[in-house]
Amino acid sequence: MEIKPKVVERLVRYAAIDTQSKEEELRIPSTEKQFTLARLLLEELRALGITDARLDPEHGYVYATVPATLPPDEAAGVPAVGFIAHLDTSPSVSGTGVRPVVHENYAGGDLVLPGDPAQVIRENDVLQSQIGADIVTSDGTTLLGADDKAGIAAIMTAVEYWMAHPGARRGTIRVAFTPDEEVGNGTAFFDVQGFGADFAYTVDGGEIGEISDETFHAQTAVVTFAGRNTHPGYAKGILVNSLYAAGHFLSLFPEGMKPETTEGREGYLHPHDLGGNEESARLKVLLRDFEAEGMAAKGALLGEMAAETERRFPGVTVGVEITDSYRNMKEVLGRHPRVVAMAEEAMRQAGVTPFRHAVRGGTDGARLSFMGLPTPNLFAGMQNPHSKLEWVSSRAMEQAVATIVNLARLWAENGNAPGPDRV
Ligand SMILES: [Zn+2]
Repeated sequence: MEIKPKVVERLVRYAAIDTQSKEEELRIPSTEKQFTLARLLLEELRALGITDARLDPEHGYVYATVPATLPPDEAAGVPAVGFIAHLDTSPSVSGTGVRPVVHENYAGGDLVLPGDPAQVIRENDVLQSQIGADIVTSDGTTLLGADDKAGIAAIMTAVEYWMAHPGARRGTIRVAFTPDEEVGNGTAFFDVQGFGADFAYTVDGGEIGEISDETFHAQTAVVTFAGRNTHPGYAKGILVNSLYAAGHFLSLFPEGMKPETTEGREGYLHPHDLGGNEESARLKVLLRDFEAEGMAAKGALLGEMAAETERRFPGVTVGVEITDSYRNMKEVLGRHPRVVAMAEEAMRQAGVTPFRHAVRGGTDGARLSFMGLPTPNLFAGMQNPHSKLEWVSSRAMEQAVATIVNLARLWAENGNAPGPDRV
């Protein structure tokens, strides 16, 4: 089976379907139109011979099983492996009327997008590395939505491959497509029990070879400043204005600990919302760090800044209340090192050099990991996501399909190896 035309055809077909999600919607999915793609995938899975494919009629999740080909006694000892991609596209750029363009046999140079010649994808090292492949873009008036339809196309093409190769050895494979990842709600109604995988991989990463096995630890601090108000005309010796204390507190944030001065594995403190009056003020601060110790140190620092502010502004009480938002999925994945190691081997066997990537944010996989489904993220190949200059190469998607197919085979071959860390 030739992979390239299959995976490119799927991406082009899925990308043309508008599945943009919406911020600040209470219902999930946030937009009804995500069902259009969900239903199409359901039908397509059934046409490929998947008998248990189902659609969550309320929330739009699609689940399916590719049955094991191993004899039952062998299959029982092999973990069930999941693959997950998201249906929706980013709310930040229009996803209505996407007209995918396939630039066949890319020969180098800039790519001018035909629908808006002002939109030009400049040749860079990444694009140059894809010379000879087909490059898929939008026409320049919308995003492409390869984030994450490249991931869906790769998983669906792997399903087609598996169903066409009943003689290939594999354990049980589970597949799921989820709504509303881009608005942070992709896992809200994910049926971990019903999905029935021992662990899973989201196929939602960019650069070829990328495996994300870490996210930030994330906390939010609410800092309150309590002063004393009175009529300003008669305030001498009485008024204690909380706003000056808040301003002073803000001035104490270390320069080298801000989002605008940090990158890579550095964490940050980020004041992002401030309100109040003379009587009281309230500041919200994001705390981010990859390490638990770094996180604790940042919380302690906010406490010191509060104490310093109280000394400087007698009569003002400064309170700091910290709550957890999400945790680094490495806490979970670290207990299952083979999940990531096997993905690295699957990539090497697909001709890809794997590298680990720490995500400076949270992911659906991180939430799933803490819901009992360890889930690192694998590359799907998309570049410049959430923009009109989004693109993906056919070669990257072929390599994503090969990685997925290799993973199923590797787990079938090695999944029931003895040892303390079976999974
Ligand atoms: Zn994505």
